[in-house]
Amino acid sequence: MSNQNKSALITGASRGIGKATAIAFAKAGYDLYVTCEKSIDALYELARQLEKEYHITCTAVQADMGDFLDVKELFADIEELDVLVNNAGICHSGLLADMSPEQWHRVQAVNLDSCFYTSKFAIPLMLKKHSGKIINVSSVWGTQGASMEVAYSASKGAVNTFTKALARELAPSNIQVNAVAPGVIDTDMNAGYTDDERAVLIDEIPANRMGTPEEVAAMILQIATAPEYMTGQVITVDGGWC
Ligand code: NAD
Repeated sequence: MSNQNKSALITGASRGIGKATAIAFAKAGYDLYVTCEKSIDALYELARQLEKEYHITCTAVQADMGDFLDVKELFADIEELDVLVNNAGICHSGLLADMSPEQWHRVQAVNLDSCFYTSKFAIPLMLKKHSGKIINVSSVWGTQGASMEVAYSASKGAVNTFTKALARELAPSNIQVNAVAPGVIDTDMNAGYTDDERAVLIDEIPANRMGTPEEVAAMILQIATAPEYMTGQVITVDGGWC
């Protein structure tokens, strides 16, 4: 990492919102750490592209954010950090009664436990600087709750409360904790919808379209550069939907 740039860790950056966020932060001159669970070739390619285009450093790491030891190993190589973006997440569609305990725990591990694991290691680095931003990617389902997505909704509801509680805990140390709660964003996470299902969904959204990963990324970057007095907020980006 070069000394003059601010640094950010963005989890789940091989595609979708995480990738768009990595690009937005690179454009803004941040040195980056980016992670993904499986698509490491895509992540290496992104890192190479960002370094070349924006003259920053970008370290790509394959790690499961739902696994404490993977996160511990990731942070073994990080010496300083200004911004942590907890973006890695998975969804699970289906009736709750059909869900296995393993499926339930996996959703909680990747979406919620990951926020604890990364924050646990990021906070001491931020305390050293007496500054830092933790930004969690939640979802509108975290407050509304969605049929067929009970585990996902519960995990994101917990992310919202995690955000508010940690914000209070870290405010005296000048570390801000906020969340962004997207509505329906056009990423691979929603690739399972048929054309008809997409049309019905879009019809419900006042903006009459899905959001783009770039719009969520722009919001995350704005939260990272927001005044220090803003903390404990869950900012909705949903085209007026919820
Ligand atoms: P996506 O499926 O396109 O991308 C998910 C990213 O997370 C990928 O890079 C993947 O490698 C990574 N990831 C998944 N599991 C991981 C793990 N265990 N460890 C490390 N990385 C892992 O999804 P997306 O739509 O870009 O979603 C990103 C975040 O935004 C998620 O937290 C999701 O819940 C949230 N979100 C998405 C939408 C939407 O409509 N797409 C809406 C609200 C919230």
